[in-house]
Amino acid sequence: MSTTDRWTRRRFLGASAAVPLGCWATKSSAAEREPSRVKIDRIEVFPVRYPTVGYFKFFQGQDGSYGRPAVIVKLSADDGTIGWGQAVPSHTWSYETLETDTIAIRDYLGPTLIGRDPLDISGAHAAMDKALAPSFTTGMPIARAGLDFALHDLAGKLAGKSLAEMWGLSRGGPILLSWTVNPQSLDEVDKLIDDGWQRGYRNFNIKVAPDPAFDAELARRVRRRVPEGFLWADANGGYAPDSALEAAVKLADAGCDVLEAPLRPNRIRGYQALKKQGALPIFMDEGVVTPVELEEFIRLGMLDGMAMKPSRCGGLASNKRQIELVGEYGLAWLGSGLSDPDISLAAHLALYGAFGLKKPAALNGPQFLDGSVLSRPLVIRDGFAEVPRGPGLGVEVDEGKVAELVRRAQAAKKTRT
Ligand SMILES: [Mg+2]
Repeated sequence: MSTTDRWTRRRFLGASAAVPLGCWATKSSAAEREPSRVKIDRIEVFPVRYPTVGYFKFFQGQDGSYGRPAVIVKLSADDGTIGWGQAVPSHTWSYETLETDTIAIRDYLGPTLIGRDPLDISGAHAAMDKALAPSFTTGMPIARAGLDFALHDLAGKLAGKSLAEMWGLSRGGPILLSWTVNPQSLDEVDKLIDDGWQRGYRNFNIKVAPDPAFDAELARRVRRRVPEGFLWADANGGYAPDSALEAAVKLADAGCDVLEAPLRPNRIRGYQALKKQGALPIFMDEGVVTPVELEEFIRLGMLDGMAMKPSRCGGLASNKRQIELVGEYGLAWLGSGLSDPDISLAAHLALYGAFGLKKPAALNGPQFLDGSVLSRPLVIRDGFAEVPRGPGLGVEVDEGKVAELVRRAQAAKKTRT
């Protein structure tokens, strides 16, 4: 390790353990509050692709399209109140796609919510569990997250409370952001860092795997430019078990602070070996959807911490419990996302703000995406994101902007066929 004031493994794990516990389960209990006078009346879905800026490996469509797929969800109550959500699939990140999430929400998960009390979010999740059976864990979790965000937005708007207020927490923020460096060759690294530096970013996450030698050189170059920044390597499950052990040592020597998702999550013994090796704190991401497998993986000694992202986890209810769980086990958590556009990003900011996230969050939607469906865009400035104020997710959606994105997505599809 260099002499810079970076996070040592022990400091990192110790500093991230303190989180408030157990507030959602009690506050949301249907048995402890009056049923709502209104019912969920209607669900509409809008499949779109947000325009993108720069290269990112998860935005390439299978049919020559490029852009960030998203299914915007509009949940209406019978008194006219509206909640907005957004599912953010990427078929090169997980098996969910723009098309399958649209169908899952419109034809399977969504219909189970019609007529339900919009304040009963845990009841809504129980109903959705029956509508689409699980595999290893909750099925179609990204689609589920789109509905969960809309449910939280609707419940907050009906109650006149922000998410933090619904949870009995303070709003928190602003959220410090990390800049993603995903070079296709090492020649690009300096330019990619400069792009972030000029926008006020001082902390960086790098996309690594499958080649430990390339990755170590990438990490060295970033570390040389930002000796004080938090440097977070994410392999997206891309190493083989042997090369992951080699990569962990090389990335530690090159100055990385954490290694996320070195292996696919079903490589249980591989994760155990990496944690035991102790070269870097090992974080998990892909494949951890519910608190159930998270606790199993913790008890199996597979990880030092979790990269949170409600968009991966079936939504805020699940991910909030996971933040509490890692705190109970004295482990660490980082704030991350799925290159979330505006509505999904607002949900992430609300969660991370309420739980007092201090370390840089890998929320790179503002870096890679262009366009917004919000009446007032989220405030992203000098490498920080403000946590939105106001009821629900704290954002207002401009339906004209949604219609325009839908029109553009349809026009692009026609051009390709
Ligand atoms: Mg990741």
